[in-house]
Amino acid sequence: MALEIRRPEMTGRAPLVDGFQRRITYLRLSVTDRCDFRCSYCMPEAMKFLPRSEVLSLEELHKLALAFIARGVRKIRLTGGEPLVRRDMVELVQALGSRLGHGLDELTITTNGTQLALFADRLASAGVRRVNVSLDTLDPALFEKLTRRDRLDKVLEGIAAAKAAGLKVKINAVALKGLNEAELPDLIEWAHAQGHDITLIEVMPLGEVEGDRVDHYLPLCVVQDRLEERWSLSPSTHSSGGPARYFDIAATGGRLGLITPLTNNFCAGCNRLRVTATGQLYPCLGGGERVDLRAAMRSDNPEAMLDAALDEAMQIKPERHHFRIDARGAEPSQPRHMSMTGG
Ligand code: SF4
Repeated sequence: MALEIRRPEMTGRAPLVDGFQRRITYLRLSVTDRCDFRCSYCMPEAMKFLPRSEVLSLEELHKLALAFIARGVRKIRLTGGEPLVRRDMVELVQALGSRLGHGLDELTITTNGTQLALFADRLASAGVRRVNVSLDTLDPALFEKLTRRDRLDKVLEGIAAAKAAGLKVKINAVALKGLNEAELPDLIEWAHAQGHDITLIEVMPLGEVEGDRVDHYLPLCVVQDRLEERWSLSPSTHSSGGPARYFDIAATGGRLGLITPLTNNFCAGCNRLRVTATGQLYPCLGGGERVDLRAAMRSDNPEAMLDAALDEAMQIKPERHHFRIDARGAEPSQPRHMSMTGG
């Protein structure tokens, strides 16, 4: 059933401002917890996914997004799991795409790329201009080790299709000690040679995984020092509206982002909220605070209940995360996996 194309009532409702006077303008909306990969730092091989009955319908995801736009959210990133494994998700992109210029400034997506070749053209025609593709290595053997799937070719095909469709691609790579550590300069050079920005991300301690995160946590201050021995990294004023700090690298002709939750906290400038595919609003990636938007939406007075729920989220949003990866065998900072909140 096609989603109804309608403008959100810009009724001058109060913008979302939290207890630390941070204005929330960015929603990361997970449309599924399912994924066709099993990345070792994200989820266990035998990951148990949610029954479909618990996941929001397309109509509910759409209504929810409108409620956020009506409260001043300007950027929506669709995430997963892997968002493109949810087949009807393109309808949501098309419906939300019609908001661009009507309360919404940007609609984007984070994907692992395997389905991108199938959807790139439709994403572009729906108004998506940029996509983030998660890619930690160009080495097929390491790729299979990290994702537990032999699909590097599919991802590279997807990236090429996105570029051909006119989408601006940004590569997101998790920096992993002893795994892709030595390859990072080559990955950066490859991305820039393709005309793609690339962002390196520190591992975050979310959910139980096999092995110990201490073994693969690589502080990006260490990586930055090494890269500066090779290239001049000029700080850039560029912002994607997310937590990355950007640098221009004249030698490779491209832009490098660093997302450093553990070595350079960025919570003071937080502008975002996350909603899971089951309609649970997490005001902070690193916090356990949660507001049930699904219950609000399925109540007798969904609009008012949703509004009240968003107000509650502003009251309980914590100042910052308290991520740590410094003790072997330590509990993760949060029991839920990254795939639940879509990063
Ligand atoms: S960890 Fe929480 S407070 Fe910090 S930037 Fe992320 S969502 Fe915002």
